[in-house]
Amino acid sequence: MSIIGLSLEQLKNKIKDAGMQPFVAGQLWDWIYKKNKLTFEEMVNISKQNQLKLKEVIEISPFKAVELLPSGEGRAIKLIITLKDNKKIESVILKERDYYTLCVSSQCGCPVDCKFCLTGIVGFTRNLEVDEIIGQVLVANSLGYHIGNLVFMGMGEPMLNFDNVFEAIDFMTSLDTMGMSKRRVTVSTSGFIKNIQRLIDEKRYINLAFSVGHANPEKRVRLMPIEKKNPIMEVATKLHEYQSLHNRKLTLEYTLIDGMNEDDQAIRELARLAKYLDAKVNLINLNPHHKIPFKPVSTKVLHRARVFLEREKVPVTIRFRKGDDISAACGQLGESHLAPKTAS
Ligand code: SAH
Ligand code: SF4
Repeated sequence: MSIIGLSLEQLKNKIKDAGMQPFVAGQLWDWIYKKNKLTFEEMVNISKQNQLKLKEVIEISPFKAVELLPSGEGRAIKLIITLKDNKKIESVILKERDYYTLCVSSQCGCPVDCKFCLTGIVGFTRNLEVDEIIGQVLVANSLGYHIGNLVFMGMGEPMLNFDNVFEAIDFMTSLDTMGMSKRRVTVSTSGFIKNIQRLIDEKRYINLAFSVGHANPEKRVRLMPIEKKNPIMEVATKLHEYQSLHNRKLTLEYTLIDGMNEDDQAIRELARLAKYLDAKVNLINLNPHHKIPFKPVSTKVLHRARVFLEREKVPVTIRFRKGDDISAACGQLGESHLAPKTAS
């Protein structure tokens, strides 16, 4: 296990056990969480002797290798990360106007099996550990991409790795560590009623995004088998209850799929759901892939959906694709599983 995610107390004990002064733990902590350095050589106020000792007894990175894949337009960079057990995950750095967003993975693959999602098609391997979740952000920061916004929209279903995801969020939003703003963390879910209930029970108020697929249950089940055990009507009731308890944003993510969910009736049902939940809608055109058996809609259809929602007074944004050329857009993560590359 790497030391990422340990408390300062735990780190001090580790340092003491290795025969060093506890203050070295404080130095290490500062370099990692405040100054974004992940190699001992860069930690210049730690003596050479202590650097060598640390190297022997401590591992900072939870990863074996990280490969960078910038997109042609330079607006997205995919990180292909090899975990210690040689499994691969991906995260995506997205350039915003004056900060970077990290689309972070919560699982290696995903067991939810949405029919339009490459991660679902790739299948599920395992949950990510706390250090592997935090590590994605630390790596991006250490590469000079200061992450100001975090979205759990990479590989996996965060609600199915609840404990680790929220432990990682608590850690990263602590002022003692990276001090990320809680308001700038969004967890995206395909909608697990029990887990939304858990958010309510634990009074965890966060920005939530709900992936709709289709607002009509009979149509939704064809795209998202999760509908069978977590019917959208019940999910919506639970989300409504959750939203009534706090003032964080709720977003409905709606992936437009040609011939499946873009007709007027489908968009009308989406508008009704958004109004009931007082949510904004984020329209995403399907990111195609030869393993995904669906096609995106035309730009005309995409804009027609937007105009319809606007007329209904539903706040709507269109998520433009960034990084298509490197398979780094939402729902395309998992490419490195299909065609393993050697990480450098
Ligand atoms: N499992 C979570 C978070 C990861 S998926 C969830 O489903 O919400 C992140 C977003 O990508 C979801 O809104 C999902 O609907 C969307 N998505 C999946 N496959 C896609 C694809 N091929 N094109 C566009 N968006 C996709
Ligand atoms: Fe999993 Fe989300 Fe993809 Fe569905 S859309 S398979 S929940 S990652």
